[in-house]
Amino acid sequence: MLGPGQLLEIWNKAKVKERDAMLWGDEVEYLVVTYSKDDPKVLLSLRQADILAALAGDKDLAKEVTPPASPGGTKPKDKYPSPVFHPEFGRFMLEATPGQPWGIDFKELLHVEPDMKLRRAIAKDHMLPNEYPITLTTFPRIGCPGVFTEPHYPVSGPKLRSQFVPDEIANPHIRFPTLAANIRSRRGRKVQVNVPVFRDENTPWPWKDPTVNYDLHNWPEDDDVRNGAAPDNFIHMDAMAFGMGSCCLQITFQAKNITEGRKMYDQLSPLGPILLALTAATPIYKGFLADTDVRWNQISKAVDDRTAEELGEKPLQNDRWRIPKSRYASNSTYISEDPRLREEYLDPNLVIDPEIKQQLLDGGMDDRLATHFAHLFIRDPIVIFNEDLEVLDLSKTDHFENIQSTNWQHMRFKPPPADNNIGWRVEFRPMEIQITDFENAAFSVFMVLITRVILSFDLNFYIPITKVDENMETAHRRDAVLQEKFWFRRNLFSSRPSRGSGSGTNTPRSGGGGNSRANSRPPSPVGPVEDEYKLMTVNEIINGEEEEEVEGGFPGLIPLVESYLDSVNVDVATRCQLARYLDLIRKRANGELWTAARWIREFVRGHGGYKGDSVVSEEVNKDLVGKVIEIGEREARGEGFKGLGGGVERLLGGF
Ligand code: ADP
Ligand code: MG
Ligand code: MG
Ligand code: MG
Ligand code: MG
Ligand code: MG
Repeated sequence: MLGPGQLLEIWNKAKVKERDAMLWGDEVEYLVVTYSKDDPKVLLSLRQADILAALAGDKDLAKEVTPPASPGGTKPKDKYPSPVFHPEFGRFMLEATPGQPWGIDFKELLHVEPDMKLRRAIAKDHMLPNEYPITLTTFPRIGCPGVFTEPHYPVSGPKLRSQFVPDEIANPHIRFPTLAANIRSRRGRKVQVNVPVFRDENTPWPWKDPTVNYDLHNWPEDDDVRNGAAPDNFIHMDAMAFGMGSCCLQITFQAKNITEGRKMYDQLSPLGPILLALTAATPIYKGFLADTDVRWNQISKAVDDRTAEELGEKPLQNDRWRIPKSRYASNSTYISEDPRLREEYLDPNLVIDPEIKQQLLDGGMDDRLATHFAHLFIRDPIVIFNEDLEVLDLSKTDHFENIQSTNWQHMRFKPPPADNNIGWRVEFRPMEIQITDFENAAFSVFMVLITRVILSFDLNFYIPITKVDENMETAHRRDAVLQEKFWFRRNLFSSRPSRGSGSGTNTPRSGGGGNSRANSRPPSPVGPVEDEYKLMTVNEIINGEEEEEVEGGFPGLIPLVESYLDSVNVDVATRCQLARYLDLIRKRANGELWTAARWIREFVRGHGGYKGDSVVSEEVNKDLVGKVIEIGEREARGEGFKGLGGGVERLLGGF
């Protein structure tokens, strides 16, 4: 069995690193689709490998590039390293990152959008004329009966055993099919990705997924649907590709040292579900409108390798513990040694590997960080290759990376890799990819600004992890951004319960027995944890509560960013451009603009070929993807989005 040896080695080497630069970088993921005016179908192109080879073989790209000026007119630095393209799970996906991480200078924030546009243009340049990189989270008709990929492959391959998608849907690198097959075999059945169908006027009810085949007998797993895997009123999917084939927008920050990294990890965590709801972009699965707006839980289910014992469906016999969450889930730990972190915020259901934890403690790691890693180590290393198991090389990080990179939580704490001088990093992972680079830049820049606000105002976003989990569920609901409320901390400036909590400020917490660590610290008396947070709308969280309604109300994240920007030296041009980004987020939060999820749903429902029955036909799909491509072409020409039709102004307004 692999222990945490490599991890201890990394931690020991890097725990003393200081004064690393404040760097950050984004990751944008694309679907590659085929589209032409005369072809009635849009398809997923499976040419990832060819496109990456074309990019790698392009001599001009090996050097530097000059991105176009940003829309605000600001000229970028002369040259940039060319963007970097990466493979992804889906053979129809691409990922692109900037050629080097962004620095702390505010001016660099203005280069993100042009760089993202450049990445998209470069990607397009290395595709066939009828191929396009688009940033929808999921392909609306992936897994539909008939042809949905180019080239076409028959279904039911040995790795996925899916009745909807062929094995060729996954990147053929050994890692990916192995991962999928190991998840399936560990589980003892296929993954079960069921999404509630959106009940429209003419949707038959109860609804039975008409694409499910109950008469297949190729694999033992074909029994799954006969054993109830596909319940009524749910869109049924059965393969990793339905989740890991989704595109997202991720941001990685480098902290100046491990202490700051641990703080950023904790403080950004409660923002995860809020940003998930704000970026909602996933209302369609397998050719049907879904009753949810975001991708998260579908990915979670698509890689859920828990056995029946771990799921609690059978008594524990062979497995070591019951595990409440999938290995892709909202995160379950806070890791900072911040005195404002109260024991009550921690997850009472956290499962850890006690032996791993003990080894980490014996190696000198503190309890809280050891707990975090001991939690990651409850998962099997599902993609380790046999030859690696024989010798454990402590100068490498591959075994730790194997565990780490198959624990997909909404925050990731990234220790420095063994072989270079990178610092401690924190990755923010919940956001859905947006249709335009303007939006992707806006959300990236917003997260960067929020992070700086957190650090410079020393904000406190702590709420119990169980409330973050609950918020994550809430974020899935249709139009959660406007219709739902989320648990959020009332007072970001204090460790104490805020105004309006009334009585009980000095009351000892129930069940604490008086010996809890949170009580042993000197500062101000603390009240019940429940007084520290309340339910708020995304609009209240982002834009603040109306003073007339709530006295001394919640200030709002955008006003906090504004006052931070007031307090630092930002030139006018930069400030104007940042205002454009903040304005988009303000309007998404207050409902002036629609999320992509709402826009897509309404596009489908308003289409002449839609029959009100939740079905997203080839024709509707083609027009939707066509509109998305049109938006992209407009953006590339720098023309703005007005007058595009198809309700695009509800999504992008006057930008
Ligand atoms: P992963 O897929 O494992 O999250 P990637 O390499 O695809 O990692 O992307 C990581 C992101 O982090 C990229 O945007 C990259 O520019 C950025 N990045 C790289 N080095 C640093 C660093 N030292 N500090 C902050 N961000 C970094
Ligand atoms: Mg990446
Ligand atoms: Mg990667
Ligand atoms: Mg990745
Ligand atoms: Mg990726
Ligand atoms: Mg990433």
